Amino acid sequence: MSGTETFRTTTPHMLKESKQYASQTLMGGLSGFESPIGLDRRDRLTALKSGDIGFVHSWDINTAVDGPGTRMTVFMSGCPLRCQYCQNPDTWKMRDGQPVYLDAMIKKVDRYKDLFKATGGGITFSGGESMMQPAFVSRVFHAAKEMGVHTCLDTSGFLGRNYTDEMIDDIDLCLLDVKSGDEDTYHKVTGGTLAPTIDFGQRLNKAGKKIWIRFVLVPGLTDAEENVENVAKICESFGEAVEHIDVLGFHQLGRPKWHEMRIPYPLENQKGPSAALKKRVMDQFRSHGFTVY
Ligand code: SF4
Repeated sequence: MSGTETFRTTTPHMLKESKQYASQTLMGGLSGFESPIGLDRRDRLTALKSGDIGFVHSWDINTAVDGPGTRMTVFMSGCPLRCQYCQNPDTWKMRDGQPVYLDAMIKKVDRYKDLFKATGGGITFSGGESMMQPAFVSRVFHAAKEMGVHTCLDTSGFLGRNYTDEMIDDIDLCLLDVKSGDEDTYHKVTGGTLAPTIDFGQRLNKAGKKIWIRFVLVPGLTDAEENVENVAKICESFGEAVEHIDVLGFHQLGRPKWHEMRIPYPLENQKGPSAALKKRVMDQFRSHGFTVY
């Protein structure tokens, strides 16, 4: 840990419990990065395409949140989806992030590599949707693998086509959001389409990678038995890759951000799932032979 970096907690990502997350977060924000502010627009676009820079919302060091061990999680800016339950609408636009040099990010991984190795941790790219910046993310992953550091990609898989097989080679673990089991519900929840997620999960399996599935349970939106059944079938199509499924109950921790950003929030009065509903859904996944948390 450098003396110039101050302790701070960060906003919880997705649907993680804020208290738990804060207590597990050691440091982060956007400290310690030199930013290429001088680049003009065209140079920035070229650097973005090549992966020489990436647009980052924030980063932190945490334990047992975004993969195994102690990890550096980097939240990239930009997301093509518009999930009704998004906790981080402030990550939707890439231009709202801070440009960070590739070298600076790799140096950061290098600085913590001993900590990662000692704890079985590593680097996680999250977002937003980190697949919007495939060159930057995959080059950092490649450098991490050369240092012997574990790599994890937290994604919806929606932009899986941006990832070549060579890029997939450098991913050890994928936290894959399967947001719904049928097209209509998927579209209603996210504004996007389901097929790319299925395709990406199957490619990960073929490449011998590990997947932790995440499914957000929203009463009246994603909880229909048939929908859950279809999510389970999709997970089955990922074969041996799936290590477990996390069923994440919806909660309202993200609401203040929608208000702050003055975006109409579709789940303004939505309640989280009851214990009985959560159990029903977890049991449904278990009946397919999955380990469920
Ligand atoms: S994938 Fe959905 S939940 Fe994740 S950042 Fe994008 S809109 Fe938000």
